[in-house]
Amino acid sequence: MWIVPEGTIGGLMTPDAAFAAVEQVFAAMSRGDAYNFPVIREAIGHADALYGFKSGFDRAGLNLGLKSGGYWPGNADKGLTNHQSTVILFDADTGRAKALVGGNLLTALRTAAASAVSIKHLARPDAKVLGIVGAGHQSAFQMRAAVAQRDFERVIGWNLHPEMLSRLADTAAELGLPFEAVTLDRLAAEAEVIITITSSFDPILMDAQITPGTHLACMGTDTKGKQEVDAALVARATVFTDEVAQSVTLGEAQHAVAAGLKAEADIAEMGAVINGTHPGRTSDAEVTLFDGTGVGLQDLAVAAAVLDLAIATGIAMEVEF
Ligand code: NAD
Repeated sequence: MWIVPEGTIGGLMTPDAAFAAVEQVFAAMSRGDAYNFPVIREAIGHADALYGFKSGFDRAGLNLGLKSGGYWPGNADKGLTNHQSTVILFDADTGRAKALVGGNLLTALRTAAASAVSIKHLARPDAKVLGIVGAGHQSAFQMRAAVAQRDFERVIGWNLHPEMLSRLADTAAELGLPFEAVTLDRLAAEAEVIITITSSFDPILMDAQITPGTHLACMGTDTKGKQEVDAALVARATVFTDEVAQSVTLGEAQHAVAAGLKAEADIAEMGAVINGTHPGRTSDAEVTLFDGTGVGLQDLAVAAAVLDLAIATGIAMEVEF
């Protein structure tokens, strides 16, 4: 069995490799070659932790396995990341454990890759202004992956907690782009591509604020009850998602679907656009919205990619198991 420790992943995995892995697995999901198993998520009654696992099988890539982990709120006091995860890959032919791969950085990279895939396939080609709502840990990863997809000239951002906005400013500076903190009205009016990546339980962006032609990647809502945008905006937009079943139960579309404003049948898979079986954006005025809920197959795809890189570079450790 191979081991790829968390600490080695930063030197191995690139946003480009994560992008390719996620784009491929979204396409496989839509072809019916890959599917996710039901997600388990439990409050374990210890250390205030939320523990769970996401798993699936990609018959095309022969990736079988799971990502296990969750949220330990007391970790920061111990000098550890609150979100902890580990991926285990199994040999699809024998069921034997194939690899143990650190999942923390991979989770950030695969989540950023998902919104970047949606920008590649759904944003207007001439998009120049990137708007980011949210300035937490994930926001920097989302920005880095997004800027590779269009010739963005500037980044604008908003966050409920303004003291966190320096993360967006620093990341934009690292990417050589000007950054400005703006009001939500300005963000909605000026950005052609908007990424939302917050822990919000109430809509932040309202339908009336969003101008024609905008592409939104709503990435923060991954749990029942969370919400980042107005249900009326979801109703108006052409909605795409990683997995429809998650989108309507725990993704951004859950509220519009529950209110009867959007039909489940009107939510398309991102993979269908990648495969060319859905046209994606059909006019410059269309509002497109990607509901990125986060699926286990994304984790397996990036873990398999980093395992290959780790073996090729001699960094993976092999143990008898
Ligand atoms: P973080 O804790 O580092 O940052 C949280 C962000 O949400 C900050 O910008 C904070 O100011 C903002 N926020 C908190 N409460 C808010 C509220 N009530 N209203 C508006 N904004 C609020 O978290 P992170 O690691 O950056 O992750 C952000 C979100 O993305 C989380 O909700 C997380 O669960 C989700 N996430 C989704 C995926 C996916 O695949 N879809 C993957 C990873 C994380």
